[in-house]
Amino acid sequence: MKIICIGRNYAKHAKELGNNIPLKPLIFMKPPTALLINNKPLYYPEFTKDLHFEAEIVFRITKNGRHVQKEFAHKYYDQVAFGIDFTARDLQSELKDKGHPWEIAKGFDNSAAVSPFINMSSLNEEEISFTLKKNGEIAQNGNTKDLIFDIETLICYSSKFFKLQVGDYIFTGTPEGVGNVKIGDLLEGYIEDKKVLECSIK
Ligand code: MG
Repeated sequence: MKIICIGRNYAKHAKELGNNIPLKPLIFMKPPTALLINNKPLYYPEFTKDLHFEAEIVFRITKNGRHVQKEFAHKYYDQVAFGIDFTARDLQSELKDKGHPWEIAKGFDNSAAVSPFINMSSLNEEEISFTLKKNGEIAQNGNTKDLIFDIETLICYSSKFFKLQVGDYIFTGTPEGVGNVKIGDLLEGYIEDKKVLECSIK
């Protein structure tokens, strides 16, 4: 499986990091070894001093496909989860400045926390609200209605380059409010009002 991630997909977040709003989806990937599931803790990696959380809605691909047309994209997913795209921000900035790839800042082990998946039937994909709390306080509040590129556009665009396979994940990007964590912090993820993920930093 692969984890396709989208950067700068909420206008206010693109601005908070000083980036322009993209004209096309910005794609990067995390390897399967990045997955962190079952509410396991994240051990603070030794190669960063500025580990950030990014709360994101994650879709699970349920059908193989390449060059998916937008009008058929809705057939390629039916489950959604809450994810955290952990990012070594200091490392990422260094790499960005040099025009280098981001992988080591974004795709390191356990950098993709994912909650259990929920069936889409109970949700309206165009308006899924999600919240990340850090130590009990709201840090990020997002809604998929604010996505610059919606899930159908992302499926259509990414499948031009990468064959989508059953079990792949798409991290759709983070809203504003990203911030750092330290050892001892507790992150909690909510979809609508339901708590679906917990991740402590050790
Ligand atoms: Mg992200």
